[in-house]
Amino acid sequence: MTESDRQKFYTDQLRALVSEKETALGRRLTFCVVTFGCQMNARDSEKLTGILTEAGYKETDSEQADFVLYNTCTVRENANERLYGRLGHLNHYKKSHPETVIAVCGCMMQEPAEVENVRNKLTFVDIVFGTHNIFKLAELLYTHLSTGERVFDVWEDTDLIVEDLPSKRKYSFKSGVNIMFGCNNFCSYCIVPYVRGRERSRKPEDIISEIKALADDGVVEIMLLGQNVNSYGKNLGHPITFAQLMKQIEEIDGIKRIRFMTSHPKDLSDELIETMAESKKICRHLHLPLQSGSSRVLKAMNRHYTKEQYLDLVDRIKTAIPDISLTTDIIVGFPGETEEDFEETLDVVKKIRFDNAFTFIYSKRDGTAAAKLPQVPEDVIKDRFNRLLSLVQKNTSEVCGRDIGKVVEVLTEEADSRVEGMLTGRLSNNIMVHFEGDSSLISRIVKVRLLESKGFYYYGRLEE
Ligand code: SF4
Repeated sequence: MTESDRQKFYTDQLRALVSEKETALGRRLTFCVVTFGCQMNARDSEKLTGILTEAGYKETDSEQADFVLYNTCTVRENANERLYGRLGHLNHYKKSHPETVIAVCGCMMQEPAEVENVRNKLTFVDIVFGTHNIFKLAELLYTHLSTGERVFDVWEDTDLIVEDLPSKRKYSFKSGVNIMFGCNNFCSYCIVPYVRGRERSRKPEDIISEIKALADDGVVEIMLLGQNVNSYGKNLGHPITFAQLMKQIEEIDGIKRIRFMTSHPKDLSDELIETMAESKKICRHLHLPLQSGSSRVLKAMNRHYTKEQYLDLVDRIKTAIPDISLTTDIIVGFPGETEEDFEETLDVVKKIRFDNAFTFIYSKRDGTAAAKLPQVPEDVIKDRFNRLLSLVQKNTSEVCGRDIGKVVEVLTEEADSRVEGMLTGRLSNNIMVHFEGDSSLISRIVKVRLLESKGFYYYGRLEE
């Protein structure tokens, strides 16, 4: 029996138990999945939501539900604190609603110290699992409900990829698609390789069939997901490159836009740049984390590229794809960072003029190599952070208005929550635009003339 069949069996068992309880209570059983962190976690939560819906539960946004599942993040220290805060609140509710079942999964539960903390101190938490076995949710919940026992099932690592999991997408017209899991890079500040395991790529035929099914289901835009998509395919029996996979996806009817994240500069190939330049569907946006502009700090971060190599790579990308929108991640205050190092970072930002940059203050993560290094004083970090932020914002407000007056294609995503009659959509380069229109346009790619830039977004007029 495949793991997928096994979980289908437990989903059926759980559905029977749920309907029994609903008959006894005379109402539907509800669930709430709370997601912390990145797009990988958001995609995992769509699968967790799919499994619970398949098992007969009814979804709710309220944490006052019969089953509450927290899908956690641990990339930064404060992510852990946020979870404990929410659990504290829910414990109060559970005191007056003892039937409530509470579960915690995701990256934070891959840290043994956090699991022991939940096991010994937070005894009101019923189920704990990690990142490697989210597909087992039905089995773990069924086991808890049928035995009344607490269930702990955290795997250290895995080479298993379970296909055909049910999933419930947040958007009908766009979807994330995992192409690989885990990371082998061990950047010295990053906890991800310890909580997401070693790199393993899905088979191209499984990815293609999932995307074909999504296209048949009305999806026009996909986001290919991986910690480092540029090293896709290395562990496959018949290795193919990320660029070769993209060429296959380009052929799928119905898919109009292809996005991907996250890229690693050391693995971004000329083959991929060429494939992007020739493509009609790959979006004109590339998120390329720099992290630091100092080659000395990049070495200490174990990033495997220098300032010059990053600048040269960006040069090649911009030459081949002149209308590309580049965004990045930058860490300020990495242990040992000097003023000279920081000046190097500012220099790269001045030279490249990113459309946007996500700037982070270094967060010490126990278990990572960098956690053992002498830390930069907080006031120094704060000062550097503010200087970087103002440079980034200055660049963004200058470069993002470059398309004013043009008529561009926009994927209409939702009604503008602030202004009646306004819609919000995204250009191929991922910049948002607000324009007047009827909500029947949501999920459609429309032509919009860009009239005004507000730095991070535009105002426009429909040109249908
Ligand atoms: S590439 Fe580096 S920063 Fe990104 S997930 Fe892997 S170890 Fe972390």
